[in-house]
Amino acid sequence: MKYISTRGQTEPMDFSDVLLMGLAPDGGLMLPEHYPTVASDVLEEWRHLSYTDLALAIMQRFATDIPYADLKDIIDRTYTADIFGSDDIVPVRKLEDNLYILGLSNGPTLAFKDVAMQFLGNAFEYVLKRQDARITIIGATSGDTGSAAEYALRGKENVEVFMLSPHGKMSEFQRAQMYSLTDDNIHNIAIKGMFDDCQDIVKALQQDAEFKAKYNLGTVNSINWGRILAQIVYYFKAYFAVTDSNEETVSFSVPSGNFGNICAGHIAREMGLPIERLIVATNENDVLNDFFNQGAYQPRTTDKTYVTSSPSMDISKASNFERFVYLLLEKDSARVHELFEGVKSGQGFDLSEVMEQVNNRYGFAAGKSTHADRLHTIKEVYEQYGELVDPHTADGIKVAKELQQEGEVIICAETALPVKFAETIIEAVGPIEIARPKHTEGLEDLEQHVTVLDNKAELVAEQIRQHVASNV
Ligand SMILES: *Cc1c(COP(=O)(O)O)cnc(C)c1O
Repeated sequence: MKYISTRGQTEPMDFSDVLLMGLAPDGGLMLPEHYPTVASDVLEEWRHLSYTDLALAIMQRFATDIPYADLKDIIDRTYTADIFGSDDIVPVRKLEDNLYILGLSNGPTLAFKDVAMQFLGNAFEYVLKRQDARITIIGATSGDTGSAAEYALRGKENVEVFMLSPHGKMSEFQRAQMYSLTDDNIHNIAIKGMFDDCQDIVKALQQDAEFKAKYNLGTVNSINWGRILAQIVYYFKAYFAVTDSNEETVSFSVPSGNFGNICAGHIAREMGLPIERLIVATNENDVLNDFFNQGAYQPRTTDKTYVTSSPSMDISKASNFERFVYLLLEKDSARVHELFEGVKSGQGFDLSEVMEQVNNRYGFAAGKSTHADRLHTIKEVYEQYGELVDPHTADGIKVAKELQQEGEVIICAETALPVKFAETIIEAVGPIEIARPKHTEGLEDLEQHVTVLDNKAELVAEQIRQHVASNV
């Protein structure tokens, strides 16, 4: 299988090359030339597979330039009960008839990003070794992404990680998670500034072509194809967990920001998984809610991007959205190029003429949840079902309940565990003890390792020069 860009100006490439990539050279996003479809007898066989065997069956169709035995080894080392807490990897639990929670957050950093990032870490290491190459990952984080990346790449050969975070702006738990790591290849840098300042520094270093080549700079942000691929698997797993036959359909409700998670659901549906609806749940930063209801997509300016109590969904634009629009516009890459060049400079676009397809052909629906909704839902779920859910998951449950149709089975993605967002949980239900997995007990008491720097790209460049041998 070859990979092409949504903008149509990049030579077809193999999976291994796409894996180490951020944006395509033409500024688009890489995706397979076509999504493979799964015949119903194959789907029936898949129903009985373990998580690792299912992952292998699915990924094998996309990662065609990695030998079967090697891919199996990568997957077997990634999805273990030791790392994800159970052999189920993504256990499903029932709230009530027709309403389920898909537990995606039982990995090392207690957020769904681990499912993809743990795979990416092992796949990166494998591909780098094969190519005899090294990579320097630089990233900016305000929480979940950075910690998931660090826990996936810690101790990996040929990989150095420099993760920038806004000094003093993350939660105590998030700081403890990242800064307590002691691996030699993990470098935490706290910038005296905001998250946007961190992002600007990453961009500045990436745009310095000489520096970028010298240290082989790369990223692991949410547009990475390997992450999307790994996420496709759990849509299949969840479907099999709540159905008895492939005649049944289910819907998914997904707390969304950059459209990475639900994009994987969309691909699973394209592959033939009997998904009825894909429900996009947003918080107050509701660009996707507007698009999937009215067909108008308008990126937010920085001053209109709100800081909310579901912070991992606080986005100004949805960076993976272009992958869906490409398909929606029947692979018209010239049009995609035009629309998303506009987005880059803050312009929106209107596709209301194809809303019929968005909703029916592709099954998308959307709703929005606010701080008050979040608190209400956390409390309600706690009182009704005795379950604590995190604020992001609560957004998904709120929207699922609001949109659920007669007889529709909805699976809500649990994208983080409540202990990561204790403040909001306590605001919702009052002072309670929030359970935390064993491996995070005492986390806040560990010694922390972080270098605090002024908001200057050059100071970060200096750190990289000090710690990484140049390629030339
Ligand atoms: C990243 C994240 C999201 C949003 O996922 P996208 O793939 O960006 O849509 C939702 N919830 C949590 C907890 C996250 O960390």
